[in-house]
Amino acid sequence: MAQLICSFCGKQKNEVMIIVSGLNGHICDECVFQAHQIVLDEMKPKTEGKPPKFNLIKPAEMKAHLDQYVIGQDEAKKVLTVAVYNHYKRIMQANNEEDEIVIEKSNIIMVGETGTGKTYLARTLAKILQVPFCIADATVLTEAGYVGEDVENVLTHLLQAADYDVEAAERGIVYIDEIDKIARKSANPSITRDVSGEGVQQALLKMLEGSNVNVPPQGGRKHPEQKMIPINTENILFICGGAFDGIQRLISSRMKQRPLGFNKEGEEQETDTENILQYVTAQDLKNFGLIPELVGRLPILTYLRPLNEESIRRILTEPKNALVKQYQKLFALEGIQLKFSPEALDYIVKKAMESRLGARGLRSICEAVMTDAMFEYPSRKDIRHLTVTLEYAKEKFEHSTLSHLKVAS
Ligand code: ADP
Repeated sequence: MAQLICSFCGKQKNEVMIIVSGLNGHICDECVFQAHQIVLDEMKPKTEGKPPKFNLIKPAEMKAHLDQYVIGQDEAKKVLTVAVYNHYKRIMQANNEEDEIVIEKSNIIMVGETGTGKTYLARTLAKILQVPFCIADATVLTEAGYVGEDVENVLTHLLQAADYDVEAAERGIVYIDEIDKIARKSANPSITRDVSGEGVQQALLKMLEGSNVNVPPQGGRKHPEQKMIPINTENILFICGGAFDGIQRLISSRMKQRPLGFNKEGEEQETDTENILQYVTAQDLKNFGLIPELVGRLPILTYLRPLNEESIRRILTEPKNALVKQYQKLFALEGIQLKFSPEALDYIVKKAMESRLGARGLRSICEAVMTDAMFEYPSRKDIRHLTVTLEYAKEKFEHSTLSHLKVAS
């Protein structure tokens, strides 16, 4: 039997993944994808002159929304909401070409220990604004031509989050995690090529400043013939985050060299050594190994506080979708009323502090405590109440694999 051939591109069946047959012709998966793009483009309502679609509310209102989900971090929330508000006002103004004052784009960088809410803040903001959002991990990015993900693939994820609506993706938010991991190893510009660090920073630059980037719609280099989609990054907001382990030392030594200053009475201002990150400056980021050009493209700098026991406890119980509330809902769906004793909550918080994973540790600890009950209780029609006491939590946690994990110091 003759080989099936795509009537559109002429490829044979063994060159593509799928061929769909019609009455008088055939079409391959690649052409289906391209045709779909064309249909989407054609059907897209023309946006010229129309206000862009996003839910822009005032910074204070935005912060009030954030407060329902994210505990504490007031300084970061303030800086972020103002930056995000100005960014989207800028987009609205960009539509008004008669205006001569052009507001420059302001990408954001957040410094803070792992599990303190950096990603969560960015994600929640995108949700409030109703714009596409994606997370990229800087550690897997490499310069074009090296093994790893091309920087353009970051935008593939955004495009996918926007359901391939290019216009929506072009006003989305990209969170780039672990930006500190692509710092160059020494503060001196490298003479040899540095594949994992400086090269990636260079590659990110173009995207961050706003340019037309050709994006592989399905990512990767697996489909070298796929049609690239041009995306303009001019209005995409990039928020970068990292733990910047050891930056505290750089901040302290800079501050020792040049005292912070004097207040009105001429007394030396006191330095809050507990939370040294609050003094972070662009210079510290450069000293850490980010290239000056990249720091320049991330003009809004803010920090997150390390979480103490009190904030971890609040995170466990207070936010709209706090873990405790989630478990209570899951049990309520089985007709079981779930309660936690204050001592049990203290115990979970203590274990989370020991894990040094910030609030991120809470989930796996709660799972270790609750899994047995979630396994048994749905089949037990006689049980209508469960109170997780300290003894119960301790017993379940100590029998879980988690309790054997050594805490990194
Ligand atoms: P990172 O700072 O490493 O990006 P994440 O934002 O991913 O940390 O936090 C991990 C999880 O911990 C979040 O999904 C959220 O559930 C919880 N969390 C962290 N910080 C906070 C906070 N300040 N308020 C509420 N939940 C938080």
